[in-house]
Order: sequence, then C-alpha cells, then structure tokens
Amino acid sequence: MIKITKFGGSSVANAKQFQKVKQIVEADPSRRYVVVSAPGKRNSSDNKITDLLYLLDAHRQYHVDASNVYRLIRQRFVDIKTELGLKQPIEKELDTFYTNLNQYTQAEIVSRGEYFCAKLMAEYLGYQFVDAKGIIRFHLDKTIDMEATAKKLQAKMAQYENFVFPGFYGSTSNNQIQVFSRGGGDITGSILARCLNADMYENWTDVSGFLMADPKIVDHPKQITHITYSELRELSYMGASVLHEEAIFPVKEVNIPIHILNTNHPEEQGTIIQERTSIKNPYAITGIAGKEGFVSIYVYKKHMSSEVGYIRKLLSILEMYNVSVEHIPSGIDSFSVVVNKSDVQESLYEILARIKNELKPDEIHTEENLALISTVGKSMSDSPGVAGKLFKALGDKNINIRMIAQSSDEINITIAVKKEDFQETIRTIYDAFVTKEEK
Ligand code: ASP
Repeated sequence: MIKITKFGGSSVANAKQFQKVKQIVEADPSRRYVVVSAPGKRNSSDNKITDLLYLLDAHRQYHVDASNVYRLIRQRFVDIKTELGLKQPIEKELDTFYTNLNQYTQAEIVSRGEYFCAKLMAEYLGYQFVDAKGIIRFHLDKTIDMEATAKKLQAKMAQYENFVFPGFYGSTSNNQIQVFSRGGGDITGSILARCLNADMYENWTDVSGFLMADPKIVDHPKQITHITYSELRELSYMGASVLHEEAIFPVKEVNIPIHILNTNHPEEQGTIIQERTSIKNPYAITGIAGKEGFVSIYVYKKHMSSEVGYIRKLLSILEMYNVSVEHIPSGIDSFSVVVNKSDVQESLYEILARIKNELKPDEIHTEENLALISTVGKSMSDSPGVAGKLFKALGDKNINIRMIAQSSDEINITIAVKKEDFQETIRTIYDAFVTKEEK
C-alpha cells in the first residue's frame, strides 16, 4: 500500500504543526511520500510565506528595500528549525537566496516557501529531500508532461524508501522553474499519486473535508463522507473550496481516491473523493453550494425559433467582450443568458446596445443581483421526485425561482434566485433533504 500524504500551509505553519505532521506520518507505514506546501498562517492575522515571497518579488521589481519582508520570511523558517532542534544550514541558504535575489525569476522566488519547508520537514521526519525542479516537468504551454514526470518520479522511488517533496512548482525542459496557480500544492500531490501508482492520495488540511452546505449559512451541516469527482467539480465550481480545482484531474483518470483529512483532528473521518464507490450517501442529495453576483439578459423575438443562428449571434457578441456564459435557459421564442456580473461590470450597456442593434429583439431586459444555487447528488439521477421536492419546498416558502437548469448527467439542479433569497434558499433545500429526512 502506498499513500501520497500532502500537507497544506496551515499544517506546516509552525513547529507545533510539524509535530502533528510527524505523528500522522509515523502512524501509518504506507505514508512514504510526503508533499508539503509553504508555511501558511499561524492565526488569522498572520501572513502566508508564499504571500510574503510575492511581496518580496514586488519590492525587487520596483527596486524598493525588501529587507523587512525578508526578515519575516527568514524568521519563520529559523523558528521552526530552532524549536525542533534541526541542523539544516538553512540560514546560509536563505541569505544567499536573498543576496542574489535579482538573479531569480518570480516563479523561482515564490517557490522557495515550499523548497525550504520540504528541506526542514525531510530532516525532521528522517526522510530524503527530493527537489521538484527537474522532476515535475512542464511543457512550454505550462501543461504537465506526465510521461517525463512519471519517469523521473519512479526513478526517485526506486532510489529512496521515502521522501519529502515540495509542492507548487516544477520546471520546464530548459530547467526554468515554473509554478502552478495559487494553492497548486494540491496538484503536485495528485501528480505524485498518479505517477507513483499510489493507492490513496491523502490531502491533510485544516478542515475535516466537505460539508453538505456552507456552515456560515446552515447550522452544523452534515459531513459529506463520500463524493464522486464529478459531484465535487460541480460543488467546487459553485464555491465549495477545500481542494484546488485542478487537483482532481491527474487521479480521476486512474480512479485513485483522494481523502481530505484534518491535521488538527486526525481522528475525524474526512471526505473520500472517488469516481466509483458502492457506498451510498444517506440522503438523496450530496451537497448544496451557491454563489452570488450573476446577471441574466433576457431576449424575446417573435418567431425566433425559425430564425437560424439567432442565439449564436448573441453569444458571439458576448465572446467579443470576453464574457463567459454560465447558463442559457430557453423558451421557444425567447432565451436568457446568465453571466457573471464581474465580467460585464463595465460593458453591460455597450453589450445591450449591440444586441439591440444587431439582433433587433422585440424585448430585451436584464435582471441583476441574481444568485445561483446548485443542488448536487449522483443519486438524483435515479431517484424520481427530487426536483419536485426541491421546488415544492421553495414554493412553500414563497421563494421565487428565476431560472432552472439541470445538468445533462442529472447530477445537478441549478436554480437562480434573487440575491435577497440566497441564504434562505440554501437553508430551505437543506431542511427539505436533510433535516426533515432525519425526523
Ligand atoms: N504555497 C502556495 C500558495 O500559497 C501553494 C499551496 O499552498 O498549495 O498558493
């Protein structure tokens, strides 16, 4: 059994967190390959090392003295080292890095949080340190060269019984450091799981996995113990974020489960993400997530149904303004497009004028301040009556639904409501499918 064990920023924020990591790793001999993020916040007013490194780079670019920022970064690593009694000559390496700052690229600078953290963690666990540079290989278009990466990783696996590996970066074929987008340490863990044929990818963070709804909206929502990759994709797209969105792709194709666990409460069950599982969730739905800040543009034109290319013309206007479309609910002679408010903040009136001019609709209007709410669950596709129950519950509460869309694989029903109804809608759906089912 091989587990890739990835620890996020809060799990390696200070010496105390390092101790928890050690206990977790030592509790299971299959935790042989450990991936770490850069130290994160120790409390809510603290800084993440990666943020400080971006700041360091900005100072460098604008030729502003960066010594105060550097001192903060250095101190964090030195504190961890001293408190754990480690020997790593990290001060020297850090100082050389700072002295030569101008020779580094931005990617190289911001990757150092993971690099130094992995070095300290490797010594502390008594594992080998393996640098991600030259191992995680990026193509020039910034996608991963999975074949080259797998070869390199497997060679390291053959060489070392166990190792600690920095997340978040790798390099191109000409040896330039390249980083993932923010939070990308999760992607590194997933790549290792796939390339080393792991049985499980454990992602240790500061929450015990996913909840069925946002705890800021629903009181003590239930834990999601099992979820499929596709359900997770729907929920995270709508704002339920624990894991980097891209992290599911490397493991999804080979069906390696991801287990989200809490470093501060390792005894808790967490959430297992997997494509195929025989375990059935106790409820008809798996989770609810939502986002505010959408606008819908409604267009009506007599005999639109017989006019070929009408919708395409409107979509190409949106494309010209770089606006991506969330949903297109349609009738026979009318349709709406739902878009992100932030995408049309500056261009909405120009877009409407263009539509009027080029498409000559009989009616056009917009509805602003909409919220989208997705109710997600793989069991919805084979349990009739879920939609009926959802709409009845909202109807009973007098909540006006402005749009309905069901995904073609039937695992997601998305509705739009007015912003004012956002929280009440989520609570109502949760009550209908979870609280009332309990009684
Ligand atoms: N340290 C990086 C960040 O803060 C990557 C990660 O933590 O996964 O974005």
